[in-house]
Amino acid sequence: MKTSDLIFDRSFVEGEWKAQGEAKFEIINPANGEIIKTVNDGGIAITDKAVDAAFLAFQSWKKTTAKYRAKILEKWHDLILDNKDALAEIMTLECGKPLKESKGEVSYGAAFVKWFAEEGKRTYGDIIPTHSEDRRLIVIKQAVGVVGAITPWNFPLAMITRKVAPALAAGCTVVIRPTEESPLTALAIAYLTKIAGFPPGVINVVIGKDAAGMGKFLCESEKVKKISFTGSTRVGQILMSQSSSTLKKLSLELGGNAPFIVFDDADIDKAIDGVIVSKFRNSGQTCVCANRILIHEKIYDQFSKKLVKVISKLKVGNGMDKDVNIGPMININAIKKIKGFLEDSISKGGKILIGGKIIGKYFFEPTVISNASLEMNFSKEEIFGPIVPLYKFSSDKQAVSMANDTNYGLASYFYSQNVSRCWRVAEELEYGMVGINEGLISTEVAPFGGIKFSGIGREGSKYGIEDYLDVKYMCFGNI
Ligand code: ADP
Repeated sequence: MKTSDLIFDRSFVEGEWKAQGEAKFEIINPANGEIIKTVNDGGIAITDKAVDAAFLAFQSWKKTTAKYRAKILEKWHDLILDNKDALAEIMTLECGKPLKESKGEVSYGAAFVKWFAEEGKRTYGDIIPTHSEDRRLIVIKQAVGVVGAITPWNFPLAMITRKVAPALAAGCTVVIRPTEESPLTALAIAYLTKIAGFPPGVINVVIGKDAAGMGKFLCESEKVKKISFTGSTRVGQILMSQSSSTLKKLSLELGGNAPFIVFDDADIDKAIDGVIVSKFRNSGQTCVCANRILIHEKIYDQFSKKLVKVISKLKVGNGMDKDVNIGPMININAIKKIKGFLEDSISKGGKILIGGKIIGKYFFEPTVISNASLEMNFSKEEIFGPIVPLYKFSSDKQAVSMANDTNYGLASYFYSQNVSRCWRVAEELEYGMVGINEGLISTEVAPFGGIKFSGIGREGSKYGIEDYLDVKYMCFGNI
């Protein structure tokens, strides 16, 4: 299909395009400020309709076999890949990431659909050796029910498939509320679910600007049994407290503050490759981007010089242009936030080794700050932009302690060629994920998720489907 055939302007509910009222809002291309599409603002009213549709559809979808669901999921997977170019273009238009990365995201996002199509067939229960001669004890797993999925702008496709594929494979139905910044990719893949043959109501996408109102509605609805959210810790906490009245299951993929430790026995060139791939993915706007680079004092100068040289070659520009490595920030607020981090660090003794400037309205140069210290604001918060702060350490103990000195616990990375150190440090890092001599760790076959303020639950892998299943114990008596 052509890109224009996959751009829609209203919510997708019960298998149909549905507008609600007259309110509209614009989806803006962050690379040039142009309007891509004006869409209907369905708000809480359309969310209500979608929940009803998903609740109704659940009554029959939950009874289908995993094999049947897998067949439709596999069709959806193939359709996503068949339309890779168009989907990637929509993604770059609405969120700015370089086209090459958008194409990568289509493949990455589709991989979850394939994986969970298979995994749905393996949600085995147990037969428990009995505690009494006249009884037999059995455990089965059943779909939790309607799932509300709330997703951010930075991976407009993969953040949906990571939630929706395991939900559908398990037998749940879904109401997706994509961010108001980049809902077009969500609508495009929703259309592909229709072609793939999902029954009406199994997948619904609701579009609206009222993030707080729509989120609250999903949390408080008794028909919704689970919320799966990716976004900030602040909003995750709001959703968790709002969900308490209905005691919902929750999966929360929240913020990170990833340390990236380079020990003095590291392969420096490989570590630099690791920093580049981890830091600059989506122009620094991912929750697993390296946030703090901790370097052993013996190699600090050598490492910084080499890093600056490599960064000087990165090209900033419109993600649609060939060879661009760093696209625009998502909006003006993001630029303001990054500028604030930069000014704060300079006022506290940070030195710019390269970059530091805003280009045009939406672009920020890749920037390296040396002499970073724990008092600087980016030591505690997620930068979500292309700033690379360099910290110095002198012992393993200090490196681990600096790395763990944060409320967050999502991704962490370190480079060393000493196998004992690798084991020791990997076990001591208080994070849900550790990249050891590797800067790119996400894959559908491994559990993605965090501890501490980075959230609850895992996405991907055999663990990712468990969050969408309830365990039921059956006791057969009087045998
Ligand atoms: P990010 O900074 O990564 O965009 P946010 O947590 O602000 O993270 O946003 C993630 C998603 O949560 C987006 O879809 C956004 O629209 C939505 N959102 C923001 N505020 C709320 C809220 N109070 N309740 C529910 N969803 C919200």
